[in-house]
Amino acid sequence: DWQQLQSDLQSIDSQQYGAYKRLYGRYQHHSPGFVLSFDHIQGDAYASPSRVRSIVPWTETGFPSNYLDSDIRRVALCDFVSRVAASIIQSRHLNDNVKGTGGGWSGPKGGAFSICMPGQEILPRTSAILNRHESIELRFTVSLPAAGRTVLGQQAWRILGVNLVDVVKQALLLANLDAKKLAQHILSAEIQQSLRAQLRDRGLVSFIANGAILPRSSGAAQTPMKGAAVVPFASPKELETTLTASDGTVYHGMGVPRGITLLTGGGFHGKSTLLEAIELGIYNHVPGDGRETVVTDDCSVKIRAEDGRSVCKIDISPYISQLPGGKDTKAFTSEDASGSTSMAANIQEALEVGCKALLIDEDSSATNLLVRDRRMEALVRNEPITPLISKARALYDEHGVSTIIVIGGLGDWLSVADNIIAMDSYLPRYLNVEAQEVLRKYPTVVTQDSNYGSIPKRAFRVDLEGLRSPYASRKRFITMNSQSKDAVDDPSRAESGIDLSGLDQIVEIGQSRLIATVLQQIAHLTKGEALTMAELVERLDINVNIDVPMSSTLTGGDQVAARRFEVAAALCRLRGLALRV
Ligand code: ADP
Ligand code: MG
Repeated sequence: DWQQLQSDLQSIDSQQYGAYKRLYGRYQHHSPGFVLSFDHIQGDAYASPSRVRSIVPWTETGFPSNYLDSDIRRVALCDFVSRVAASIIQSRHLNDNVKGTGGGWSGPKGGAFSICMPGQEILPRTSAILNRHESIELRFTVSLPAAGRTVLGQQAWRILGVNLVDVVKQALLLANLDAKKLAQHILSAEIQQSLRAQLRDRGLVSFIANGAILPRSSGAAQTPMKGAAVVPFASPKELETTLTASDGTVYHGMGVPRGITLLTGGGFHGKSTLLEAIELGIYNHVPGDGRETVVTDDCSVKIRAEDGRSVCKIDISPYISQLPGGKDTKAFTSEDASGSTSMAANIQEALEVGCKALLIDEDSSATNLLVRDRRMEALVRNEPITPLISKARALYDEHGVSTIIVIGGLGDWLSVADNIIAMDSYLPRYLNVEAQEVLRKYPTVVTQDSNYGSIPKRAFRVDLEGLRSPYASRKRFITMNSQSKDAVDDPSRAESGIDLSGLDQIVEIGQSRLIATVLQQIAHLTKGEALTMAELVERLDINVNIDVPMSSTLTGGDQVAARRFEVAAALCRLRGLALRV
């Protein structure tokens, strides 16, 4: 039991670092009763940190049993306790640093003891996990302390024997928690999910409730903007929609209908801010975020230009044909795609895994893929691009895929949009009638393609041989340590990583970590066998509703659920030989 942990740590004090391995196994704590499990113990002080779990029986926590009633409640509960644990560790850590108390909350490399701090989204995360109805566990990483190459037993006891117990008590026992805040967290997630679930039946892609706070405090932070300058959202009368949440609360707000929606308006009037809120409406947000009542169909994908990305055998022929040099656009491959080809590939890859709405901002687009006016059509005869403006209608009619596009300066889109919303000093106005007037005055003819073309269906074989353990090194970057001889011979392989910076709907580094883990599973799954993206996603059991099974004890506490769209997008960005189609 717990005394055993203390005496074990005493007995290895001042021994070689490897002696920590003797801790493998489980220790029982009494009052509160929980088990501390050592799952991974680092080989030396500089290796990646050790992983431990504290497993608390459900009956010990005092949580109401109805918190286990649905997936969303379980996810929100675990998300909440993760936040509490992370903030306790963070504040004690700061305190330690300020006072220099050496209380074991901060290590020489900045964190003796840590759990990932969640952002603004309520997500399934491996930092806290429910084991059926029996127990709830917190997963920590710990840098086991050392002096040179020897064990610091006393300090380790402080971290594991004292501080960890403190976190478990504060985060997992209802008596010590803000029970009201927890209840609100869970209810809010349920409400958001119930609103989102109604969108399809109501013919909507997105819903933004009146009163929502969309702008963020800065370009670098996701917390809400505060102060008198903030303009709360208010729907134009014409688009006002009423949704009733699962708890009976009625929400009024703007429904963005399926089809083609143009978000327009002057520069700096809030267009991109609205689109960003819509993009992240695929997730549930924490109470107080300001976007708790902004919900979007979770099969919506932000599309942007991403020149320089690698592209492997994707059919971009709906948009681009006959490239110079006779390059095949039905199976387009490039190590360095252009703005327009990368954007076309991004659209096609999203459709390949079931995207139902494209979200596009002119700020991050290749203009030539969005539109071409009549003058350029007349002048440039060898243009291989058919822009989205000529395809969006067919895409919706044939495949039911909507488009929401932010455009300030390309009037041709007025003639293809079903709905035109103009942002005016941060408030939306419905301009369909005025737009008809303008179109009468300044007529335009936009060539429409009657067929969209086909949605790609590639079969993959993923070969990660020679690419050891992908891991997320930054929020949107996966690094691959290269081990093979090939890699040394071929610098393009040595230089391997997956750049996810074009994926705006990745909100936490934990999601990139999960994607790295999944990539390894994919490599394993597809050995010798080519699978289509749809089959892959099926086998991995990755739902679109971000409910990835992550309970394996092999994974640490640092992973956060991601959608199939982001997983597929990462796979499609693997460079070089790793991906065989
Ligand atoms: P646009 O895309 O139309 O050029 P942005 O969405 O980038 O405009 O917004 C411009 C600025 O206005 C940003 O700094 C943003 O934070 C701020 N902003 C956006 N919406 C609001 C709002 N509702 N209230 C206050 N400020 C806002
Ligand atoms: Mg903008």
